[in-house]
Amino acid sequence: MCSPQFYQTKFSKSRIQLHIHLECSPHAPTIWEIAQNNNHKLPFKTLDEFKKECVTKEPSTLSNYLKPLAWYLPLIKGNCTAIERIAYEMAEQQAREGVVYSEVHYRPANLASIIRSDGLSSAETVTYRMVLELVTKGFQRAEQDYGIKARSLLNCGRENPDEAREVLSLCEEFKDKSVVGIGLSGPWIGPNQDLEGEEGLRKEVIEVFQRAAQLGIHRTAHTGEAGPPSSVDRHVKFLHVERIGHGYRAVDDEVLYQDLLKKGIHFETCPHSSYLTGAVPANCIKHPIVKLAEDSADFSINTDDPLFTGTTLDDEYRLLQKKGLKDFHIVRANFNAAQSCFLPPQEKKDLFDHLKNVYGITGNQFCNHLNNNFLTV
Ligand SMILES: [Zn+2]
Repeated sequence: MCSPQFYQTKFSKSRIQLHIHLECSPHAPTIWEIAQNNNHKLPFKTLDEFKKECVTKEPSTLSNYLKPLAWYLPLIKGNCTAIERIAYEMAEQQAREGVVYSEVHYRPANLASIIRSDGLSSAETVTYRMVLELVTKGFQRAEQDYGIKARSLLNCGRENPDEAREVLSLCEEFKDKSVVGIGLSGPWIGPNQDLEGEEGLRKEVIEVFQRAAQLGIHRTAHTGEAGPPSSVDRHVKFLHVERIGHGYRAVDDEVLYQDLLKKGIHFETCPHSSYLTGAVPANCIKHPIVKLAEDSADFSINTDDPLFTGTTLDDEYRLLQKKGLKDFHIVRANFNAAQSCFLPPQEKKDLFDHLKNVYGITGNQFCNHLNNNFLTV
């Protein structure tokens, strides 16, 4: 048997991330350089000022937290060199933080040069498919240079059925290659906007996710971050998601929470952003992630949006340790991530075996310290 201390020196390597957004992770100096090369004036005098303003300092709202996107996204959108570069650099950065495998969320719609539903087309068009190919190229380059494996988790917005259908067709085409699954994000702009986009689900988007399930495409959705527990329930029920992005509010409804535990729904948690978006009140006595850990729930620990949080994975782990997580909880979160990642079965098994090897865990030790379920992968 090994003590919890055994893991203390071990979790600096072979981490797994399942929830980090490509659009919200570019390096500030890269954006600054792209702006200068394109004679684009960012509304800041210096790089330092830009970098500082991108980070949300105090708990705020989701929309305020995401505000920096408007400053720089137009610079990346439709810019092939920039898209490949930010994909490469974000994978490189994760490798530096000890990540060996990462599922990277992004909306191709945010990076493509047209909104497909407008029916526009031109020789200069950067399509969703091209975005995926550029990101894949960046990831492959990082894999060669740093050994990190990164895969695309293609997100679509709640508000746009055309986008959802196009994303689904890419997921189908690139399944078990560069794309591991489909995700749902973005604010709701329909009649339920007072709920910050979490309650409303369009019929057409539900159909896309149901089709994804039939096709064996893995599914996750942002929910329970700004919206109430009922939104988590709806996302799980109607979209057939296997994982949820954030999901903190689910712990407020004990019946729902127990049901999610029973179903083995994985929570992609992001400690710093949970405060900065206002999803978890700063004065909350027990952070929902601590509850998930204590209840042996299936959860992972992620950075979400490093440019807006200003954090690394170490910072995320440290915050949770301050809130009461033990080292073995953090190790277990990494094993959870391996178990609930969307890789094809053999690659998943290889990743899991790699983790066991790195952390020096044999079958029996695993049973004693983590959870029997982990052995079923
Ligand atoms: Zn997210």
